[in-house]
Amino acid sequence: MSASDGASVSAPRLIVLSGPSGVGKSTLLAYLRTHNPEWWLSVSATTRFPRPGERHGVEYYFVSRAEFEAMAAAGDLLEWAEFAGNLYGTPRLPVEDQLAAGRSVLLELELEGARQVRQAMPEALLVFLKPPSWEELVRRLTHRGTEPQDVIDARLARAREELAAESEFDVSLVNTSVEEVAAELVALTRAPSPRPAP
Ligand code: 5GP
Repeated sequence: MSASDGASVSAPRLIVLSGPSGVGKSTLLAYLRTHNPEWWLSVSATTRFPRPGERHGVEYYFVSRAEFEAMAAAGDLLEWAEFAGNLYGTPRLPVEDQLAAGRSVLLELELEGARQVRQAMPEALLVFLKPPSWEELVRRLTHRGTEPQDVIDARLARAREELAAESEFDVSLVNTSVEEVAAELVALTRAPSPRPAP
């Protein structure tokens, strides 16, 4: 079954997908990009270097620190945070445009960004994606082969903090398989919002 089967999403909704680095958020997003055209997936700006296969404007806008800081200073970012030595932020205008046009919007954010969205847009649905086990998360981060050991260590330290914040989210999903989690996410967007817009 495709995750987009079934009735269409009833109301435009802002969904924040968060969870520790290595849990599989990017894989889930790539899956949703193909299978869920009714959702608009925000493209973040970041100062980190592209991983092999990542494309400017698709996975991220890869920008310099000066460019990022100029965007933040101009108020062009809905939220932003520093993560493992790099800056990440959500361009504000496309999100507002898509919500105004009636589409559901998905943001993939680390914990600080999720907290900022909760403050700015209390009606957002905050979803926490967690690994089947800590050992599995370590295995995924270590075997990805895209980061040096000091970066892996920084991401694992941050992962412990993020896992401890699970209770701040509206819903937790265990990432068993990408198809299952995508279907669960779609079902959630069709349920009534736990935090109606003011
Ligand atoms: P990665 O370098 O692995 O692509 O992303 C590192 C972390 O930054 C992940 O937890 C990811 O969810 C988060 N992230 C990606 N884009 C944004 C963003 O626009 N804002 C915030 N706050 N975090 C982001």
